[in-house]
Amino acid sequence: MQQLLPKDFLATANIQQAIVVEFENKKTNFMIKKYGNDQYFNLKNLNHIKRIRKSEENPSNVQFFMRLKDDFNEEIEQNIPEEIKPYLLKEVEVAVNMPRTKEQFLQFNKYWPITYKVQQYEIVQFNDFEQQEINQIMRQCIDQAKQTYEKNNKFNACAIFDPNKKKILQFAVDETCRKQNSIKHCIMNIMKLFGENYIVTAQQKAITEKVKVKQDEDMNDSSKEMVQNTSQQEKEKKDEDRLEEEEEEEEKKKDKINVKRKSEESIEESLSSYYYCTGLDVFIVQEPCIMCSMALIHSRVRRVYYSLKNPKQEQFGGLNDDLMINHMDSLNHSFLVFQNVESEYANTTLKSNQQQDQLQK
Ligand SMILES: [Zn+2]
Repeated sequence: MQQLLPKDFLATANIQQAIVVEFENKKTNFMIKKYGNDQYFNLKNLNHIKRIRKSEENPSNVQFFMRLKDDFNEEIEQNIPEEIKPYLLKEVEVAVNMPRTKEQFLQFNKYWPITYKVQQYEIVQFNDFEQQEINQIMRQCIDQAKQTYEKNNKFNACAIFDPNKKKILQFAVDETCRKQNSIKHCIMNIMKLFGENYIVTAQQKAITEKVKVKQDEDMNDSSKEMVQNTSQQEKEKKDEDRLEEEEEEEEKKKDKINVKRKSEESIEESLSSYYYCTGLDVFIVQEPCIMCSMALIHSRVRRVYYSLKNPKQEQFGGLNDDLMINHMDSLNHSFLVFQNVESEYANTTLKSNQQQDQLQK
C-alpha cells in the first residue's frame, strides 16, 4: 500500500511578474479599506499571496499587490482611479503556486511574501493493526468484485467504512453489465444506498427532535407528580419513614432518567446522522473513474483506498498520480488516497476470473 502525494509537493517555484503600487506607509489603512476588494487589485485565486510588503528600497514605503502582469492591460492602466495614479507602479516577481511543504514555503517566500498553512497534507503512518484492518476490508471488496464479475459485470466493488465505529456501513458492486454507457458504477451505487440508509434528511431530523421534546415534557410532568405525591405522603408519615420514602423516590427518578437516555440513544443509533460521508473512508477495488472521483469529492469522504489503477483503455481514473482530482485547489474538498491495497490478491482474483471466462467461451 502506498499513499499518493500530489505532484505539487515536489514543484519548484512558478515565478510570474506582478504589478504592485508603492505608497507611503501611513496611507496603508486607507488604501486597504478603499481598494482591498477593488476590481483593480485582484488576487484572483492566489489566496496564498500577501497583499502588502515593505518596500526594500524605501523603508517608509509599502507595496500593495495589484494583479499579475498577464492580467494587466492598457485598458486597466488607463482606468486606474485618479487617487492611485500619482503612486508608483512597479513590477515584482511572485511565486504563483501554493507551497505544500515548509521547504517550498521558504523557497517561494523569497519572492513576494506568501502565507503557508502547516500540514496541508497529512502523511499517514499505519501501525500493523491498522494495516491488517485495511487489507481485510479490501479483501472483502475484492471477493464482492469477483461475485459481480461472475454475473457479467465489471470486476469492481466498494465499501464505506466508519473508522471511529470500526464498522463497514455499506457495500456496493458494479452493475454496469460491462457496458461503457452505464453509470451503475459501484461508487454511484454506494452513494445511492448510503443516502437511503444512513443520511438523515431534514424532515426525518425534525421528527426525531419532536420525539425528544415530547419525551422531555413527559419527563417533566412525571417528576412534578412525583414531587406532589411525595409531599402528600410526607404529611401522613412519621419522620423515620420519610427518609426511606425519599430514597425510594430518588431511585425511581434515576430509573426514569436512565430509560429516557436509553431511548434517546436508540433513536440516535437508528438514525445515525452522517453529514454526507464526512469522516468516512471508501474502499474500492479499481481506481474510480473521473465521474466517480467527483462524486467522492461531493460526498466529503475522508480517505479513499483502492487496489488497482484504472486501466487506461477503459475509462480514465481520477485519483492516480497523473490526475489526482481529489487535490485540486479549485475544489472545496480534498481527501487522502492510498493505492495498491492488496493489489496482488486483486490481480490474482481478477486473472482467475478472466481465465474462467475464456474457458466458458
Ligand atoms: Zn465510475
